[in-house]
Amino acid sequence: MTHPFLDLAPMGAAEFAAIEDKVARLLRTEQDVVITQGEALLPLEGCIRSAAQPGTVALNVITGPYGQTFGNWLRDCGAEVVDLAVPFHTAVTAEQIRAALTERPDIDFVSLVHAEAATGNTNPVAEIGEAVREHGALFYLDAVASVGAEPLLPDAWGVDLCVIGAQKAMGGPAGVSAVSVSERAWKRFADNPRAPRRSYLSLLDWKERWVDGGRKALLHAPAQLEMLALGACVDRIEEEGLDALMARHAEAARAARAGAAAAGLAPYVHDARDAAPVATTLRTPDGVDASAVVAAALAADPALPVAAGGGALAHEMIRVNHYGPDARVEVVERCLAALGAAVRKVRSA
Ligand SMILES: *Cc1c(COP(=O)(O)O)cnc(C)c1O
Repeated sequence: MTHPFLDLAPMGAAEFAAIEDKVARLLRTEQDVVITQGEALLPLEGCIRSAAQPGTVALNVITGPYGQTFGNWLRDCGAEVVDLAVPFHTAVTAEQIRAALTERPDIDFVSLVHAEAATGNTNPVAEIGEAVREHGALFYLDAVASVGAEPLLPDAWGVDLCVIGAQKAMGGPAGVSAVSVSERAWKRFADNPRAPRRSYLSLLDWKERWVDGGRKALLHAPAQLEMLALGACVDRIEEEGLDALMARHAEAARAARAGAAAAGLAPYVHDARDAAPVATTLRTPDGVDASAVVAAALAADPALPVAAGGGALAHEMIRVNHYGPDARVEVVERCLAALGAAVRKVRSA
């Protein structure tokens, strides 16, 4: 019996390269784009292990849970890590980055998350990129939660390593991801004797055996389902228009902030400028447990894209995930109506 997911023809090098080119177009980048056959944590970890070694001094910006993970990988590679943590209700500023770089002129790597789906903030990457470029450090960016939801211009902003995944605003598969790599970053990897080689985490393998060979021979059989889905999701974005897709995310975020008070909640991120278009985080009133509110809302409608914050935030933070197909004002309004009813229910319990 035929089945749309089964008995797929093997994907050839030309088809694979064409999907890479589509992703490069989406990122408006002239740099090499390498597609990585796993969820975005694969290139996120692969880049750090390729760039960092003993002697590396890294400025690691923590504006949510992922920054913590990056710091741990950097330390594991023997790098000295200077952590710059900012509260989750705000964003980091270019001035803070500049001050940190001035204090430690030997910093040669900067890791930053663009938008944080988990904490609902977004960082001013264009301005930060200017500071990092002036300093000369390699600039690593997790853009998984920003791509498709807000402007992302790795070349114009001087991003050396820009990691994306398709599973948030792009509305695509979670099992495949990509990274744009600058010439400077390739050189850093090549000069690092500890950079992974002949390993699933290796980006140099792709550089030497795929990119430098003119993208004629693949390193292994591609994950066709994910690759086809990635190609299809970029096609769909081109049909809708990237600007229209970003506008939908911005409108959803505006609606979430505007409607919070009526639901008995407050935007967690104080300044709208620092709020991510991909997801809005909301603060529950004192004494009202966020997990209990989310549980009550989901009991009423299990399909709502709402969640409680992770870890210690589970008591005070609610996330409304308005990305991809959910980046619509109607979806946000349905979430807020259910959350408002849930707040009243939890308060009266
Ligand atoms: C979603 C996301 C990822 C990918 O992580 P998942 O847990 O697989 O969704 C990575 N970085 C950021 C900033 C994200 O928002």
